[in-house]
Amino acid sequence: MFAPMTFIVTIGMIVSVFAAVAILIRAFGQSDAGHRKQLSNDRRECHKCYRRNKKRAKFCAHCGEKLK
Ligand SMILES: [Zn+2]
Repeated sequence: MFAPMTFIVTIGMIVSVFAAVAILIRAFGQSDAGHRKQLSNDRRECHKCYRRNKKRAKFCAHCGEKLK
């Protein structure tokens, strides 16, 4: 009975370590996405020609594509 219990505890520890790493990766990913969102709010990038437009522009100054 002792050996299987140790095995289960070891698996549980490994799973919890992986969960902690996953939470850290998710937290870093969210902060990075938030930073990108701030940049895109400052300048509007056209999704068609990928050129930057003024932040209040409704249409792309380069290709005329409607900006979201
Ligand atoms: Zn464009």
